[in-house]
Amino acid sequence: MAKYWLRVALDVPLAGLFDYYHEEPVAIGTRVLVSFGVRQLIGMVIQTPEQPEYNAEQVKAIRMVLDDVSPMPRDWLALAQFAAQYYHRPLGEVVIPVLPSPLRRPAAYTGKLSKGGPVARLRARQKKSSTPPKRAKAIAAPELTAEQAAALEQIHIDQGARRYLLFGVTGSGKTETYMRVALQVLAQGKQVLFMVPEINLTPQFEHMLRGRLVDEHNQPYRIAVMHSGLAAGKRLENWLQVYEGDANVLLGTRLALFTPMPNLGLIIVDEEHDHSYKQQEGLRYSARDLALWRGQQQQIPVVLGSATPSLESWHHAQQGHYQLLTLSQRAKSVPLPAIELVDTRRAQLEQGYSPQLITALEKTLEAGQQALIFLNRRGYAPVLHCGSCGWLSQCPHCSAYAVLHKGYKHYMQCHHCGGQSPVAKHCPDCGYVDLTPLGKGTQRVEEYLAQRFPQARVLRIDADSTRRKGSAEALFAQVHAGEVDILVGTQMVSKGHDFSRLALVGVLNADTMLFAQDFRAPERLFSQLMQVAGRAGRHQTGARVLVQTDYPEHVVYQALVQQDYPLFAEHQLQQRQQVGLPPFVYLALITAESKQLDQAMAFLRHAKQWAQHPELPGMEHVFVYDAVPLRIMRVANIERAQLLIESPNRLALHAFIRAWAPQLDELAKYYRCKFVLEIDPQDI
Ligand code: ADP
Ligand code: ZN
Ligand code: ZN
Repeated sequence: MAKYWLRVALDVPLAGLFDYYHEEPVAIGTRVLVSFGVRQLIGMVIQTPEQPEYNAEQVKAIRMVLDDVSPMPRDWLALAQFAAQYYHRPLGEVVIPVLPSPLRRPAAYTGKLSKGGPVARLRARQKKSSTPPKRAKAIAAPELTAEQAAALEQIHIDQGARRYLLFGVTGSGKTETYMRVALQVLAQGKQVLFMVPEINLTPQFEHMLRGRLVDEHNQPYRIAVMHSGLAAGKRLENWLQVYEGDANVLLGTRLALFTPMPNLGLIIVDEEHDHSYKQQEGLRYSARDLALWRGQQQQIPVVLGSATPSLESWHHAQQGHYQLLTLSQRAKSVPLPAIELVDTRRAQLEQGYSPQLITALEKTLEAGQQALIFLNRRGYAPVLHCGSCGWLSQCPHCSAYAVLHKGYKHYMQCHHCGGQSPVAKHCPDCGYVDLTPLGKGTQRVEEYLAQRFPQARVLRIDADSTRRKGSAEALFAQVHAGEVDILVGTQMVSKGHDFSRLALVGVLNADTMLFAQDFRAPERLFSQLMQVAGRAGRHQTGARVLVQTDYPEHVVYQALVQQDYPLFAEHQLQQRQQVGLPPFVYLALITAESKQLDQAMAFLRHAKQWAQHPELPGMEHVFVYDAVPLRIMRVANIERAQLLIESPNRLALHAFIRAWAPQLDELAKYYRCKFVLEIDPQDI
């Protein structure tokens, strides 16, 4: 019997590939079912060597070749290999988790109910219910604005791996521009990958693509969507459509990046600055960065778009690495709303509301228009306070306060560990009975506005009011139907929505976002306020945005008033260059977790000691900071500390980490810690 040796990637937390054999040749990129210890796992064949690395006598046979999907193509494997190498994770942690779940669940192939596997069952279902494609209800194409036309002219779809940054204010017609480029690529018979940060927030967007992406006979191009909200079977179906070339367009969130596309001709990354492109668990990748790599590898254009680009992308554009395309005007003749600052140090506040904001609300209501009050904090009040002894409602499990929530029953909830507890009736320290809520969350804002403007219909949209499935859509439908006069909301309301009668946006508590310690806080605040301001006055003139702040002279607010992103970006980049922050240096971050802070800190200190070893490659270009506890040090009784690693030289940083990081597994065990290594961390 012949033995064909296979090196297989498995989704296990061990470095390297695993040896198996089969009696017949198996192509690279094929999924196989194997035994691993007592478990069965689905892995992927990565190499077919002459000889195994392991003792040949002990190498086991695979249990099954899963050829219901054709072997993953070379370019896809190259992308996965790059991601594994760049983020310093085993290849199996990339190639397996990114597959639709039915393709990586052994039970889908071995169980009694799974004759033929999930793909065969899907095909059987499709056969029964196949419907002919519908003719498109095509949406008419608008005539391009001069700026759109100029941008389009500069985008070349046939000149290899070009990178573009489409910098366009909200409503400037970026989407229209993407669609025009996409149509050119589709007309050549190629596929388009269209990435958006959160697909469930943008049904209007999908509707638009479906209506506009039609061929010259008005036949719709086939669009497949991909996001984590899809049922597993549906996701598999869409994935197969794209992989087999039946779908022309893939519209999806970050996970769509890892879909094999045999005929890819263009990648679009909308809202490229959005943090949702960064995966925060498992393989902590940036889908935007990998999209750029994929474009390079496939020699196709990548178009990044944003009204407030990430400083990294802006810097690349300034350096000439990306071609900058600017849309400075709104596509429709409605100008951008005016943004005004209300200096809260000088105003007589009424429970935190300035007279300017109150008057503006009154006027908006009188005119029968809508207002939005934006505040990034849910719940009633962020903390409960004892006026007698100074007690504060600390979460017992975290270094954070428990937040007061009102409802059918009032309760305290910690927003870090999720733990809930009853509201204290008296101070646990001194017994004082009159505990006061400090500060305000969306519920308190809602309560106040309903009292202050009894004639107005007030609606709150945040993570609490939309917990039930489908409730977010229902609430947004109320807003669109004009059944709401004042909308109170968190960042959930700031993205994507086109509220036709919205004439006033009021922003509360922006300063707390500004002074978060994270070095990206100003960037994040600027982009969030531009977004939320962009919700106003999309269809009529005279809309206003009022931002209450104690620091109106701060550059974030000054640039905001002028709606001048380039001014803001230039200032921030200068600062970052001075103090040595990205994009002028490259960062990696190790976060350690332990029951005791001492253990986590000791582990990181020891790790830092090892980092000083003179034989580590690249170490002369790498700076390792001291270990520090996280700002919110304890969450759910786990203590957390971190170690930041910095280098002006990306190659040196990676060479260093490649040599240093693998030793840390043992060290972490010794200190009874868990740790994660993150490349290009977002939140530090
Ligand atoms: P962005 O993506 O930049 O926020 P959109 O592409 O959503 O902007 O466009 C904003 C609005 O302007 C949409 O209602 C869109 O249909 C409309 N629009 C886009 N381009 C044009 C154009 N050339 N002429 C008229 N309306 C346009
Ligand atoms: Zn007390
Ligand atoms: Zn907690």
